[in-house]
Amino acid sequence: MSGIDCRQAETLVARYIKHTLSTDELEEFLDHIEHCSSCYDELETYFIVHEAIQQLDEKEDGTVLDFRELLEQDIRRSRRYIRQKRWLHFLSVIFFMAVVIVAASFVVFLVMEVTHFL
Ligand SMILES: [Zn+2]
Repeated sequence: MSGIDCRQAETLVARYIKHTLSTDELEEFLDHIEHCSSCYDELETYFIVHEAIQQLDEKEDGTVLDFRELLEQDIRRSRRYIRQKRWLHFLSVIFFMAVVIVAASFVVFLVMEVTHFL
């Protein structure tokens, strides 16, 4: 398994929070924090600080947010995002192959038609 280590995970935390990781980086990061509690704790700390700062900018409506729950939601959303990206990639590959097959068949058809009249 080609996972990332704690040092690499640490460098991805800030970008995870800003949602600027690539799909592959995101997946490796999520795989790591799922099995590494110290990196998860680190992520949680960053996340809470980040969310708390965001809260300051927004109007106070008196609701106290559960940051741990928010982080779990964020992770679930990230997992879903990876699945959608992978699925879209898969569909585009299938679509591309279908186009190539149709184009190739058409060329074969044309060649056969042309040679028929020669
Ligand atoms: Zn770790």
